[in-house]
Amino acid sequence: MSKPVVLITGASKGIGAQCALTFAKAGYDVVINYSSSEAAALKVAKECEAFGAQTQVIQANVSQFNECEVMFNSVMTQMGRLDVLVNNAGIVKDNLVLRMSESDFDDVISINLKGTFNCAKLAAKIMMKQRFGVMVNVSSVIGLVGNVGQANYAASKAGIIGLTKSLALELGSRGIRVNAVAPGFIETDMTHALDDTIKQAMLNKIPLKALGQAQDIADGVLFLAQAKYITAQTLVIDGGLTHVG
Ligand code: NAP
Repeated sequence: MSKPVVLITGASKGIGAQCALTFAKAGYDVVINYSSSEAAALKVAKECEAFGAQTQVIQANVSQFNECEVMFNSVMTQMGRLDVLVNNAGIVKDNLVLRMSESDFDDVISINLKGTFNCAKLAAKIMMKQRFGVMVNVSSVIGLVGNVGQANYAASKAGIIGLTKSLALELGSRGIRVNAVAPGFIETDMTHALDDTIKQAMLNKIPLKALGQAQDIADGVLFLAQAKYITAQTLVIDGGLTHVG
């Protein structure tokens, strides 16, 4: 029997790349989507192959429905099935609301939220025919509690939680589960750019007194992919950050 297939958006680095390796180790064939970092995506594919996974690397900007359509068609042509979709691709364009440009708001919503909708819609069509499938959407604790300078990002990540619940309700009877993870502060390129004083202030607020690693999120994503009776949930993985006031 062929191995289950996972498609991970934004898998050229960070959390997405770690998800790719984690699913490969767990016995999945892996489709690695990226937007601009081709060399990095190919490197992730090689690393997955070392765990025995068959891989496919596909460039597509998730905010563009037609590019997503080509990507999902290509997955079905090459892999023949789609068991898990991880909607991970995401960006930040931070600024205070009064200084935030309309395009910075639109870009973040288009990639983070509409990109998740685009891929979920296309995956749902395939998974409904299969009568099985799982989606895990990568939200953020910022979508739960908000953050100064991240109104666009917070709106996109809160939107992902609402989208996740609605998808779960619409698709549950077809054997499709949909959940989200809400990472806290994770050490990746997205957070490396932050000032050391901001990082230290964040660290002081985290009960576990450590920043999260991409592996911590990948473990949660794999768990939700395999947790047969869990749907419509958001798993917070943040070292306790959002539990304290
Ligand atoms: P990252 O290291 O910056 O990686 C982002 C990934 O998304 C890259 O693979 C990038 O590919 C891809 N991407 C960006 N725009 C894309 C587009 N339009 N279409 C397809 N792929 C696109 O970020 P990360 O920290 O791993 O974050 C991954 C996810 O976790 C994001 O949704 C982020 O919001 C969420 N998250 C992160 C943290 C954190 O602390 N790091 C916390 C909470 C939630 P290219 O390089 O090819 O463009």
